[in-house]
Amino acid sequence: MTDPHASGFHARFDKALGAYLGLAIGDALGATVEFMRPREILLQYGTHRDIVGGGWLKLARGQVTDDTTMSLALGEALLLGGHRGITQLRDGQGDALVRQIGEAYLAWWRGGPVDCGNTCRRGILRFMHEGSLVAPENEGDAGNGAAMRNLPAVLATLGDRAAFEKLSLAQAHLTHHHRLSDAATLGLGSLLRGLLAGEDQARLRERIARWVNEEPAFRHTPYRGRATAYVVDTVQTVLHFVSEHEDFEDAVVATVNQGDDADTTGALAGMLAGARCGAARLPWRWLSRLQPATVRAITDQTSGLLALADQLSEVAHG
Ligand code: MN
Ligand code: MN
Repeated sequence: MTDPHASGFHARFDKALGAYLGLAIGDALGATVEFMRPREILLQYGTHRDIVGGGWLKLARGQVTDDTTMSLALGEALLLGGHRGITQLRDGQGDALVRQIGEAYLAWWRGGPVDCGNTCRRGILRFMHEGSLVAPENEGDAGNGAAMRNLPAVLATLGDRAAFEKLSLAQAHLTHHHRLSDAATLGLGSLLRGLLAGEDQARLRERIARWVNEEPAFRHTPYRGRATAYVVDTVQTVLHFVSEHEDFEDAVVATVNQGDDADTTGALAGMLAGARCGAARLPWRWLSRLQPATVRAITDQTSGLLALADQLSEVAHG
């Protein structure tokens, strides 16, 4: 049983909120330099470290992209489905929740997002036309689009490993169906679960070492310097910089200045580094630049999703 009044509750909320806001910060910061090469960034910005908008998407200052808004769509669907939806999915008794997630992605897409990856678009259109909940396995689906948006699934299932795995893969397979995408989604999710449980940098490094031992594709030493949307490059980049830098700001700045899919690598590095330091220690000069509606949606969802996790584990253990 979780006592919601225990001080552990506040620590967990701070870390979960830190992860979600860290994701949005990394996204907003990185989007400015998305698809640029490190040398181009250096020439244009020196070291890029301010949330200023622009980039190829011509963003407003503080605007986030699909990485954050698809996560919010997933989070909304989970809150709608409730712990019953998750339990049902976990126990193999129906996929109503997955359909709800598909509907949420479709509504997100119809809302005219500022950007949308090709594999995501294909999966959403397939869901729309055929109602299909699982994309066919495809060598070309090893992009980072499923892993980038999985944070709400991690929060909603914190006390329940089986539910975490089922839900993460189900939301992923709506658009991406590839062994390495699955491994990245679960692996990054596991690192996040550890950090939300209060694990420190030493434990994080141990977890990472164990993971890349099992999945050598993600080995990041020596770092090859590739930060593309290919999930292997994305994961290597994120693991490299969060291992290297314990400070939130250092980790996120180093990640986005690697360029290429900088909003997504930035979002995922921000997620892990934000969980590590907690919301209260996020740099105010970045937090204050995010759009207020984004901060509000993230804060509301964080408490809702953690409440969902508590209901889920009460049902499991009660
Ligand atoms: Mn993006
Ligand atoms: Mn991106």
